[in-house]
Amino acid sequence: MDRTTSASMEMRSEGLGTTPSEHPAFAGRIELPYKLTTGRAASVFLAELASRRIVGSRCPSCARVLVPAQDFCAECGTAAEELVVVASAGSLSGFTETAAGVLGLIRLDGASTDLVHRILDAGLADLQVGQRVAARWAEEAQGSVLDIVGFAADDAPAASEEVRPLSDPSDPVIEQPYRLRLDYQHAYGPYYGRLFDEIATSRRIQGVRCPRCECVLVPPREYCDTCFVRTAEWVDVADTGVIKAFSIIHLEFVGQVREPPYIYAEIVLDGAATRLIHTVGGIEVEEAMERLHPGTAVRAVWKDGEPVGTLEDIVYFEPVFDD
Ligand SMILES: [Zn+2]
Ligand SMILES: [Zn+2]
Repeated sequence: MDRTTSASMEMRSEGLGTTPSEHPAFAGRIELPYKLTTGRAASVFLAELASRRIVGSRCPSCARVLVPAQDFCAECGTAAEELVVVASAGSLSGFTETAAGVLGLIRLDGASTDLVHRILDAGLADLQVGQRVAARWAEEAQGSVLDIVGFAADDAPAASEEVRPLSDPSDPVIEQPYRLRLDYQHAYGPYYGRLFDEIATSRRIQGVRCPRCECVLVPPREYCDTCFVRTAEWVDVADTGVIKAFSIIHLEFVGQVREPPYIYAEIVLDGAATRLIHTVGGIEVEEAMERLHPGTAVRAVWKDGEPVGTLEDIVYFEPVFDD
């Protein structure tokens, strides 16, 4: 990764310089796996796809047939409890091209609403509004809307308005696994940028000194947390320090990078005034419960090989016992 240099930082400096947009970023990702509750009507719609039936619900008030089946009519707000089977072919009401291919609004025969789905084997130039299309089914049903692979123009049957009552419904698909994913770029900014730069190039940990209280802040930051004044001077600190507090992590959670149990600690490096959070290793968890205390000395164990330029270049801090 392209890193900032100390020189480029100081050229911009009023104090220590602040132009985060010009500093490198690393790729970050937030992932949230969860289960989506489908609801009454959609749970049947999804289940019936395995039987190659497309289920809608009929509004008792305005008589519209809603596809996919909905719990309530969007037009008049009435509960639409009657489930019906509509044709698996229909006409294109509209279409567009996206990065993922052509999407169409499909008015299935017997339906009063449009179903959004993929249009297969066709570009925009091949399509026109009103064109007949038919569902193409997946070989194996997964209980998702992708049990219909998409809709294609070939072999689409002529229109038939028949709407059948739903008989012998399958077990509903009550939950669907979902994964929310958010990819983003996290800018280091000038302070973390230089910290990581120094770690990568010289295994040197740097903090910044507050001009008022003279505390050295690690990780470095633009303002002193206590005095609210701008920090003004880069300072080397040691890769040794003392534990101020620690916790043994037994719980597993999403996004965890270490396998529990492991030890998280707040460490004050020699020369620094603030706590850095890192892991403590080189000691068994049972022994750690006995022997680690606030005040226990630790030293950094650096990663072998090519540095990545983050605090991950320190594998962990190991305790240094007098005995
Ligand atoms: Zn209605
Ligand atoms: Zn201060």
